[in-house]
Amino acid sequence: MILFVLFDKIKNMKNLLRTKIIATIGPASDGTEKITELIKAGVRLFRVNSSHGNIQEHDQRIKNIRKAARELNLYIPIILDLQGPKIRAGILKEPIYLKEGEVITLKPSEEQGNNDFIPVDYTGLCRDLKIDDVILIDDGKIELKVIGTEPEKIEALVTDGGILTSRKGINIPKAVLSVPSLTQKDIDYIKFAVEKNVDYIALSFVRSKKDVERAKEYIKSSGGDIPIIAKIEKPEGVDKLREIMEVSEAIIVARGDLGIEISIQRVPVVQKQIIKEANLLKKEVIVATQMLESMMHEPLPTRAEASDVANAIIDGTDAVMLSGETAVGEYPVEAVKIMRSIAENVEASGLCKYNTFIPPDSYICSEDSQIIANAAIRMLEQTNIWAVIAFTRSGFTARLISKAKPGVPVIAISDNRAVCDRLNLLWGVFPYYMEFGSNFTEEFLRELDDFLVQNTFIKNGDKVIVTGGMPCMAAGTTNFVRIHEVGAQ
Ligand code: PGA
Ligand code: MN
Repeated sequence: MILFVLFDKIKNMKNLLRTKIIATIGPASDGTEKITELIKAGVRLFRVNSSHGNIQEHDQRIKNIRKAARELNLYIPIILDLQGPKIRAGILKEPIYLKEGEVITLKPSEEQGNNDFIPVDYTGLCRDLKIDDVILIDDGKIELKVIGTEPEKIEALVTDGGILTSRKGINIPKAVLSVPSLTQKDIDYIKFAVEKNVDYIALSFVRSKKDVERAKEYIKSSGGDIPIIAKIEKPEGVDKLREIMEVSEAIIVARGDLGIEISIQRVPVVQKQIIKEANLLKKEVIVATQMLESMMHEPLPTRAEASDVANAIIDGTDAVMLSGETAVGEYPVEAVKIMRSIAENVEASGLCKYNTFIPPDSYICSEDSQIIANAAIRMLEQTNIWAVIAFTRSGFTARLISKAKPGVPVIAISDNRAVCDRLNLLWGVFPYYMEFGSNFTEEFLRELDDFLVQNTFIKNGDKVIVTGGMPCMAAGTTNFVRIHEVGAQ
């Protein structure tokens, strides 16, 4: 069967992992040498997390990533992740043991906490909380229930006890918090992101499309044009998934906070819903958090973790993300290598629903563009093709093809280096920079052939599908598809 021939071909191509691996950078991984090692092991994007460290450290990390990518001649996008309105307990004089059945006081305060009260860094606490609201501390390990509200403090009953240490995260899933979606720290980091020309900005705790639009305004007024990745990690974000996706370029299934906010039990189903919706709307999607958690301290993952990575890919995610595993873990390179080989096994199995034909009732872009993309996918089934070559000024054509999960690699050629960087988030897409005109003259096709033979795995005599928008190749138009034999001119 032709499909299996295609899979075998992919298996024989080196360095063509189609699932994208994102590594969060941190003290365990931020030197140029380590970054180079991680990229060689399979990392294709890095996340810089503003929740930890300071601007100077992040500045150095960004420089190191850019340097490593340049030396390896690869487009490696950087995602700057904004902390967002994450509420935290303040500094405690010493750890506090919270016993079940006990009543404790929480106060918005910058003072050090002690056995009498827990300081919280959110001034709206007393205004936003109501009797019976649940407060979860330290990833839900400690649970409190509000039993009294006063203008200056909250009284809460400990319903699930534990030891509380300084600066632990606080989630209040049920309350509608008046906390702004962008804090002053986030705004400072947006300016920094624009200055450093990062490739994506990730937005935490997105609750509605307004949050995304506000961030876009700040990016614009800082002089930038950086795509937004919305992190879905609040119940409101799940409820308003569609409107958030419509205004964002990509989505993260942020299972860490999501698991606290909507309960761990609901995460697997919601993950599948988010991935499905993102693929229908042609948005990139990333699955994140605890993918290989045990590799923070062990050289091998559990069977359940290996299955989790594989299942996210089978669900149809573009990318899988490592967090603590690469930022502070003991085995960052090993974690990437394992993730990569799990992904390779899934890709070789054919379980990624290759060659997906998009039915007309789910066309969300211009009809012509989708018809062309579908035609390209159908052609793959009937001819012996080695790759799809997508000419793409804005990335649009490459995205349409990628979302159909073709059985062969998509070589995306753009004449815009920033677009090349961003394209490395797309499943199965391998970005290359090349200047091109607006018409397919014979001379241009010869140039293209030389380029492909020199820069990719494609050899003279191989057949490829070429697609894009002609004559002007403007953003958002894909209007031609043709079969091309390399070197036949
Ligand atoms: P974080 O986001 O790592 O920035 O908290 C991801 C998540 O919550 O899963
Ligand atoms: Mn989070």
